[in-house]
Amino acid sequence: MIYFDHNATSAPRPQVLEAALPFFRDHWANPASTHSGARRPAAALEEARVRLAEWGGVRSRDVVFTSGATEANHLALRGCRPDGRDGLAVSAVEHPSVLVPAGELGAVVMGVDSRGILELDALDAALDAGVGLVSVMAANNETGVIQPLSEIHARTHAAGALLHVDAAQYAGRMPLVHDWDLMTISGHKAGGLKGAGALLIRQGLPLQAQQLGGDQERGRRAGTVDVAPIVAMVEAVCEVWPDLSELRDALQESAVALGAKVSGLGAPRLSNTLHVRFEGLPGDALVMGLDLNGVCASTGSACSSGASNPSHVLEAMGMDGRSGLRLSLGWNSTKADVEAATEALNRVVAAHRDALEVL
Ligand code: PMP
Repeated sequence: MIYFDHNATSAPRPQVLEAALPFFRDHWANPASTHSGARRPAAALEEARVRLAEWGGVRSRDVVFTSGATEANHLALRGCRPDGRDGLAVSAVEHPSVLVPAGELGAVVMGVDSRGILELDALDAALDAGVGLVSVMAANNETGVIQPLSEIHARTHAAGALLHVDAAQYAGRMPLVHDWDLMTISGHKAGGLKGAGALLIRQGLPLQAQQLGGDQERGRRAGTVDVAPIVAMVEAVCEVWPDLSELRDALQESAVALGAKVSGLGAPRLSNTLHVRFEGLPGDALVMGLDLNGVCASTGSACSSGASNPSHVLEAMGMDGRSGLRLSLGWNSTKADVEAATEALNRVVAAHRDALEVL
């Protein structure tokens, strides 16, 4: 099997499994307990917090561990506003874990251009209207397009607002950027395990807990803390992936030779992500064909591909929402994987085109 769906969940890195295993097998006590069985998990949790804080450039008390990026996004969107500025603005290409709560909160939705880059005029208009929190992803899960965070951060700060960055697809894959006030990360997109995420907060920012009932995480996130996937996440994000652009570009070249259009072309993109459209060929048919040829791929967001919904990301970029095929490579992808996937893609595209001709 060739696994090119690392944007849905990436393969766990070997050092991650090694680091996490003792906390599944031996040191599984509740880290908040007062007996001696809690000592190892509690110490590992604090060590993970300190390492992650150093990596992110925040104080260790400003790391809030969560169950994943979805929960960290909710916490940021619902829990943080600067004094006197209430509103929220998000980009149209955010993950549903931002877009859905943003809809409930009456957020302004800012448009993107045909490459998927935030329209800065829309940002300025939202800031002029008094928005207090702006939420823009570091890199898009479907197209891999990277947003100009330093420009967005500068404009947001100049207006007295705060920037939340969903870095679920970025953290651990690309060298960290520091243009944010709150940042979401996720373990299982970086070569860690499912079940852990975090919100990192700049010193002094207010944060209102959204999950109540216990005083874990300094009262900002109630619930027993899941040590093993947290240890795994920190191990994963602290060692950045190799640059995959050479492999991705080889795959891109083959797809373009087959007539594909590349989404986000001309914009900075994650080095592991290729998103293409073949005219007249729906993405889900190609995904199915590739699967039969031993290649795991996706139409876009795993969270909605089961339901085969059109992609809101492609639609925001002015494209047909059903046309996408996403091939997302990982830290363990090889040249041989790319060659085999290229052959499979050639076969699948040819078979679908032949079938269309018969019709
Ligand atoms: N944000 C982005 C950009 C994502 O790609 C995802 C996962 N598809 C999430 C948030 C949600 O992450 P998690 O699975 O950790 O809740």
